[in-house]
Amino acid sequence: MAFDTIITNGRVVTATDTYVGDIAIREGKIVAIGQGLPRDNAAKIIDAGGRHVFPGGIDVHTHLDMPFGGTTSSDDFETGTRAAAFGGTTTLIDFAIQYKGQTLRTALDGWLRKAESKAVSDYSFHCIITDLASAQLEEMNALVRDGVTSFKLFMAYPGVFMLDDATIFKALQASGKNGGLVCMHAENGGAIDVIVQQALAEGKKAPKYHALTRPTTAEAEATARAIALAEMAGAPVYIVHLSCDDALEKVREARDRGLPVYAETCPQYLYLSIENFDVPGFDGAKYVFTPPLREKWHQERLWNGLKRDHLQVVSTDHCPFCFKEQKELGRDDFTKIPNGGPGIEHRLSLIYSGGVAAGRFSVNRFVELVSTTPAKLFGLYPRKGTIAVGSDADLVIFDSGRKHIISATNHHMRVDYSMFEGVEVTGMPETVLSRGRVIVDGNKFLGRPGSGEFLRRSTYAQP
Ligand SMILES: [Zn+2]
Repeated sequence: MAFDTIITNGRVVTATDTYVGDIAIREGKIVAIGQGLPRDNAAKIIDAGGRHVFPGGIDVHTHLDMPFGGTTSSDDFETGTRAAAFGGTTTLIDFAIQYKGQTLRTALDGWLRKAESKAVSDYSFHCIITDLASAQLEEMNALVRDGVTSFKLFMAYPGVFMLDDATIFKALQASGKNGGLVCMHAENGGAIDVIVQQALAEGKKAPKYHALTRPTTAEAEATARAIALAEMAGAPVYIVHLSCDDALEKVREARDRGLPVYAETCPQYLYLSIENFDVPGFDGAKYVFTPPLREKWHQERLWNGLKRDHLQVVSTDHCPFCFKEQKELGRDDFTKIPNGGPGIEHRLSLIYSGGVAAGRFSVNRFVELVSTTPAKLFGLYPRKGTIAVGSDADLVIFDSGRKHIISATNHHMRVDYSMFEGVEVTGMPETVLSRGRVIVDGNKFLGRPGSGEFLRRSTYAQP
């Protein structure tokens, strides 16, 4: 059997196993794993001795080329997937937004066009629903049949994205039947809006008030309500970007009762805190995203949640806006600052560093959090999310000893600042393959826009 590529002598790491071996690739798939595989009939040999080999990272929460607040997130599907690749992430699930009155299909087609000729690695979409009449309820079934098997609903942003409980409940009932998975933005948008308006009336307009007007209780309340609605509907639910211990407690309680409730957190909630707003002038706008940064003590609770499987996934909620001209739209009023931060590139290094290198959890748990569980929950497993015969050869050769200082001066995202400026990480991707093609080799990018494929996903199955 002739191989296109063999990766030799790497320390192969999956969610369950760690061993030294060779991985052989043909036509984009892993076709053999073993020790001492025959080198002579391989077109290309990559020596991974002394390094880890991980399945490619899967980031299930990104916003590329997304209109928000009169501007558009600064990474498109080319620059975003490229930056992701430099960080070891080879699959994204982004969001197709249905605006009021539109069909869900219109939303999906719009986002497919944005990605098609640009993505350098594989991608899929959750469908954001902002308007759910009976026609769109029917359409949810059709989308699931077409491989778009997850939906995102908002309990925040009244008048823009927010849905009422009855509508959310109907969507959950539909997903309980059609095998879809509802992803929930859980914050009590009604109460938050009252607090925001009161702050503005008192002249509190600086960036830090974005955080001070969105209490952790608002997130915990909505998380509990989302869980209750899902339980009544007989559906699973996935809480996105969980940021605080109060909400984590609600998820933990539900999981202890055996409910199919899942949650992700993001590196910004593990590494940053409300103290980041203590910067001169308008610089705090760099940390305006939703849910907001919390008091520092929440960080260790979230790390512990990742360790103990109260949290199952780390995504980024990558939604970059440049400081100049974009974040600056809110110079006089924090409610006009585009919400979002850049993070797509550094997820693996930050979680490896704080999780594995810092001794909080095993390298297998790391792989589970950044690749395997995302693949399982969102219908991509075992094509993605593991290293196995028959799986796509999305692979990351990772130098676990390499230190790197994150900075806007060396990152690949199309944005003029870094949320993690100056943070030193231990562990960096060295070589990254997408379906058997080397797309990142050290500092060199070898991928090609348009080579990423849209992934049709399976229905939800309890992992
Ligand atoms: Zn988001």
